[in-house]
Amino acid sequence: PLNTTDLIEEHRICVCVRARPLNKKELTTKDLDVITVPSKDVVMVHEPKQKVDLTRYLENQTFRFDYAFDDSTTNEMVYRFTARPLVETIFERGMATCFAYGQTGSGKTHTMGGDFSGKNQDCSKGIYALAAGEVFVMLGKPNYKKLDLQVFATFFEIYSGKVFDLLNRKAKLRVLEDGKQQVQVVGLQEKEVKCTEDVLRLIEVGNSCRTSGQTSANAHSSRSHAVFQIILRRRGKMHGKFSLIDLAGNERGADTSSADRQTRLEGAEINKSLLALKECIRALGRNKPHTPFRASKLTQVLRDSFIGENSRTCMIATISPGMASCENTLNTLRYANRVK
Ligand code: ADP
Ligand code: MG
Repeated sequence: PLNTTDLIEEHRICVCVRARPLNKKELTTKDLDVITVPSKDVVMVHEPKQKVDLTRYLENQTFRFDYAFDDSTTNEMVYRFTARPLVETIFERGMATCFAYGQTGSGKTHTMGGDFSGKNQDCSKGIYALAAGEVFVMLGKPNYKKLDLQVFATFFEIYSGKVFDLLNRKAKLRVLEDGKQQVQVVGLQEKEVKCTEDVLRLIEVGNSCRTSGQTSANAHSSRSHAVFQIILRRRGKMHGKFSLIDLAGNERGADTSSADRQTRLEGAEINKSLLALKECIRALGRNKPHTPFRASKLTQVLRDSFIGENSRTCMIATISPGMASCENTLNTLRYANRVK
């Protein structure tokens, strides 16, 4: 039987998994699909169907989440079950977070920001934009209209434990914690937005800023966390905040043995922040006195989103379907399994 704590957790933390289709590269190298989503909340990792009876592997390679999305699921659909319920939270004076977690190339940015792979930088269909659109719809509802709320957005990245403002030419920012344990990113630009188009423009600015000067967009984004926030203010005071986070890639095996010191340090920092994140989410609603916020810049900056009665979070674990990614996929699924 469930006790009350279970109910609170159930309500506060949503964990789901999303598999993408095999991509061109995987098809060219004849990689094989090892992922099956047999029902709306179960995902299976198995030997390629062509070779082996998959029932043999059911026992230890099956994972259950709040939702499992197969490779035909659209961003809109993923959004509807993950971030959308959290939009109401911020109107009700709460704090919401939505994370995309997974290996590089598994679909985090596609899910959160929209697709940036082609020449057409279409970010209108990612969760950032879908959530922002919903915010403006909610603003028009009588209940909320009378509150006279203003909407602001921030966009920053955390790279090697340092914070950079993507809406202000990558200015490096300091993080301060006052005596009351309020955390502040000093000088972070908060831009007022009046409509979804305003938000899209900011995302575009932030994205081009994020990757400028980098030899490869993916090489850089795989090593940094991008945080996009929608903030509601009432008479200048924070009313609610929604943080949407495209996490650094979780594959770090090669880093530990890299000859390059910087690479090893960055890898260690990413591991540390993802471990701290897991603990902070787990602590949400469990009333744990010692949540390791300070263990990483990511969790320190998000501190106010993990405490308080009215905080909710969802994690979207993205996985690649190929056999070549199997080990990373299993790591991702185990991590997501532990978050809840
Ligand atoms: P990540 O941000 O996790 O490194 P990306 O979001 O950049 O991964 O995705 C890698 C590639 O796979 C991109 O070309 C992207 O367009 C494609 N992709 C990711 N998820 C999907 C999906 N659900 N459907 C179709 N293509 C996808
Ligand atoms: Mg990415």
